[in-house]
Amino acid sequence: MKFSQPVHARCECGQLWLEAKSRTLLQLVCHCTDCREATGQPFTEVAFFAPGSYRVHGESQTEQMAGGTGLGKVYHSCAECGSPLYATVNAVGGSAGVIASRLESFKFRPALHVWTSEKLSETKLPLFAIKFSEAPPNAAGTALRAVVKRLKKRA
Ligand SMILES: [Zn+2]
Ligand SMILES: [Zn+2]
Repeated sequence: MKFSQPVHARCECGQLWLEAKSRTLLQLVCHCTDCREATGQPFTEVAFFAPGSYRVHGESQTEQMAGGTGLGKVYHSCAECGSPLYATVNAVGGSAGVIASRLESFKFRPALHVWTSEKLSETKLPLFAIKFSEAPPNAAGTALRAVVKRLKKRA
């Protein structure tokens, strides 16, 4: 399988990298504590790619987290340099949530802000952003997982 016009994300040293179809499933800003611990950033800009629309190269070290939804997620960082690159998130149908700043020539356009209940007080949210105090409501999650299922079938 070859992706036309793929986008690339690399760790600090380049050992761990990911290529994906340029079309994202969802882009959001996550303010949760787990992401903050994993990335060391006050909030995390994430671009999700559906299963089958991305490939990972290199060795990663993983950390399993329960996730606020209880559905679980696995953070992947480089086995060599330790820089975090992406997480596979079951709440989003097992899609890969890639740290947007790691994506080369990529324009980040978040649709929503999630887990604002855990955000740092100094983080100011855009006035008109769509915000969820925790994960988006179940209906949104279910809809997303259905889209992922359809995409998987097509792949
Ligand atoms: Zn690395
Ligand atoms: Zn998070």
